[in-house]
Amino acid sequence: MTTQELQLDKFRWITDSRQVGEQATTTQSGESVFFAIQGEHHDGHNFIGELYQKGIRFFVVERSALMPDLRAELIDYADAQFVEVDSSLQLVQTLAAEHRRQFRIPVVGITGSNGKTIVKEWLAQLLADDFVIAKSPKSYNSQLGVPLSVHQLNASHTLGIFEAGISRPHEMQALEAIIRSTIGIFTNIGTAHDEGFRTRKQKIAEKLRLFIHAETLIYCADYADIDEEANLLLKAVNTDMRFVTWSMTGREAVCQATLEQDRLTLSGPFGTVLLTIPFTDPASVENLMHCIVAMLTLRVLDADALQSRLNRLRPVSMRLELKEGINNCVLIDDSYNNDVAGLQLALSFLNQQSTRGRRVVILSDVLQSGQPESELYEQVANLIRANRVEQFIGIGPVLTQNRRFFADGSIFFPTTDAFLTEFSVRELRDSDILVKGARPFSFERIVNRLQRKVHGTLLEINLDALTHNLNYYREKVGANTKIMVMVKAFAYGSGSAEVAQLLQFHRVDYLAVAYADEGVSLRQHGIDLPIMVMNPAPETFATLLEYSLEPEIYSIRLLKEWSSFVAKHTEAETVALSSRSAQRKPCPIHLKIDTGMHRLGFLEDELPVVIEYLKSYSNLRVETVFSHLVGADEAQFNSFSQQQFKTFLRATAALEAGLGYRPTRHLLNSAGIVRFPEYRLDMVRLGIGLYGVESSQLDKEAVRPVGTLHTVISQIKAVPAGESVGYSRRGVLDHDARIATLAIGYADGFDRRLGNGVGHVWINGVRCPTVGNVCMDMTMVDVTQAPAAEGDDVIVFGDELRITELARQIGTIPYELLTGVSERVKRVFFKEGN
Ligand SMILES: *Cc1c(COP(=O)(O)O)cnc(C)c1O
Repeated sequence: MTTQELQLDKFRWITDSRQVGEQATTTQSGESVFFAIQGEHHDGHNFIGELYQKGIRFFVVERSALMPDLRAELIDYADAQFVEVDSSLQLVQTLAAEHRRQFRIPVVGITGSNGKTIVKEWLAQLLADDFVIAKSPKSYNSQLGVPLSVHQLNASHTLGIFEAGISRPHEMQALEAIIRSTIGIFTNIGTAHDEGFRTRKQKIAEKLRLFIHAETLIYCADYADIDEEANLLLKAVNTDMRFVTWSMTGREAVCQATLEQDRLTLSGPFGTVLLTIPFTDPASVENLMHCIVAMLTLRVLDADALQSRLNRLRPVSMRLELKEGINNCVLIDDSYNNDVAGLQLALSFLNQQSTRGRRVVILSDVLQSGQPESELYEQVANLIRANRVEQFIGIGPVLTQNRRFFADGSIFFPTTDAFLTEFSVRELRDSDILVKGARPFSFERIVNRLQRKVHGTLLEINLDALTHNLNYYREKVGANTKIMVMVKAFAYGSGSAEVAQLLQFHRVDYLAVAYADEGVSLRQHGIDLPIMVMNPAPETFATLLEYSLEPEIYSIRLLKEWSSFVAKHTEAETVALSSRSAQRKPCPIHLKIDTGMHRLGFLEDELPVVIEYLKSYSNLRVETVFSHLVGADEAQFNSFSQQQFKTFLRATAALEAGLGYRPTRHLLNSAGIVRFPEYRLDMVRLGIGLYGVESSQLDKEAVRPVGTLHTVISQIKAVPAGESVGYSRRGVLDHDARIATLAIGYADGFDRRLGNGVGHVWINGVRCPTVGNVCMDMTMVDVTQAPAAEGDDVIVFGDELRITELARQIGTIPYELLTGVSERVKRVFFKEGN
């Protein structure tokens, strides 16, 4: 069957098996097609069986993935249709480009280094009264995100706003054909994602390709490089293009602007307008300028109308925040936006996080979908059902009118106020609650009601940075090497359960913890990945078996104890359950070889005894064998690392020969992955790199910081020169100072060695040194040079102040600081978007 015959344009497009709930409803599955894509980190072809079980019957598959095994498997799905192509992604892109051709409406295409999503969201807010708008959900701007966004366009839309992001040369061409902008906005150019490009000019030129067919192009002429390249490249290929450039520095441009505090004066072809702008930080001003110039260019309103729209503008929250709720609930706060594509993303995040709680969704009317009401709400109800939501709460007049589509037991309120006054929030307990509403419904009031108040010191964990880092290491090791992730010590301080849930969602191969109770806690949070326990004490053996935790075996003593424990246990079970358990599978164990660390592990010459023992006790199976490099992060130990590798290979070869099967071999930690790709073997053990520290220092910028430790200023006071601050009069002032007391001390993990000016914190853009000794729960810093007020946010480490630097200042390693953030510090998790 060809793609034309199938008319895939009419289908719902699925590219991620997790978009489909356990039991896709018939309407949903009947109209859905799954595009199996082989990516750098995932291969969609592995999920065809799963999707078939869920009811999907149409698949696009790639020829190169159709190995004999897979072909044989597909034959079993006799009633499904398979379309074979060279590249599923390319087909998605081609189909989306064809879809776009059916519409003759203005389409705004946005690219640039920063601000794309904000400009898109703000433009959509500002133009909401004039157009029915289709836009990219969140920051869906990739090679796959763009076609999926544009595929949403339907006959009722009168404007499209889509963003495009690229990180390598030659990526824009495909996106251009799909978006086919009539109005282009080039937000700015920065240094992000430079790695794929030879020069900044090359990067600008590639981005400009998005606009080759546009009628109008908007950008800030103060970026001289953009101005130059745009004139050079676009004027030649598209002579009719209208450039609407703007400047705030007096550079030659079509529109000239000046800003005094929040008063903006703007002159251009539309005359001169005076406006008061709602945000005045430099990034917001730039984003606003693009929007204002675009509005004036579209000529839909006059200055007064524009001003009243600007007054209603709200900050864009692109984050899906995970918050601790009352009554043991977890909240997913997505209270500023509501469209069907965004709902799908938020539900998949709910799915990912919610492995044990009851799922609750609180949703407002979907505004501006452009779809007929009944079709829209049937679709929404299907999504809710497919994601196994146990309790649905709908808020808004239109949802209430369409309640017939939703499961029995769903409840509806005409307004947010009605919900807040009539609904008893005590009914919500032990639940994972998604709160998602369009702006006018002010769902932040609901979040406020349901949230457990956090104050003071907190560690923010960026789940997208974690994913980014995971992908970086996955790419490094390639598809044929598995990944075990170390989540010991509370996932290096980042919070084990949430991190493990994310890792399970991204399908890593193994997890490892130090102690049995850490493994138990993961199981209780719904983690079913295999888990290795590195310190399996005999008194925890029963727990290991009960929770399917797999011990590291490092000595003959431990081997014998575990094996006889397992034998006894299996005997008892055999008696109790007769023949069924006689075939019980051998218990997986992990052998640790000591190749030079001299910590735990078998020395090479002990292996013959180990092999003999294992051969006579068939109840154990060596699932993996591993060792640990002592100096993977430092070049001075290269020859020792090499020696360890050789010893390890000899040991594993002996083991293999003796056992008659081949256990999975693993040697490398995070630094090793970067420095010794040739040693990656069958699996690697990823630790600190995932949490944002690239410890080999070879590829420092490749990973993103994951944790940001925040605290607040409790009090500020003026202290004259000559006085002392804190215990033991250690902080004697040599100037009249403003001293701020922070709500963090060494009991929270703010190391005492950072006191007395050794360490700094970051307050409103200024680094402020500590003064005097760090106390148990408080620390004093000098804010004489900083704009600071009581209650202000303070960053202890994060993007602005790297933890590696902090560690260096006190002569320790980032591991110690990360794991030292005390458990009394609340962890808050968030996603940036998409
Ligand atoms: C903690 C640990 C790792 C991870 O090391 P990183 O340097 O954090 O990547 C790997 N292997 C073993 C045995 C470990 O204990």
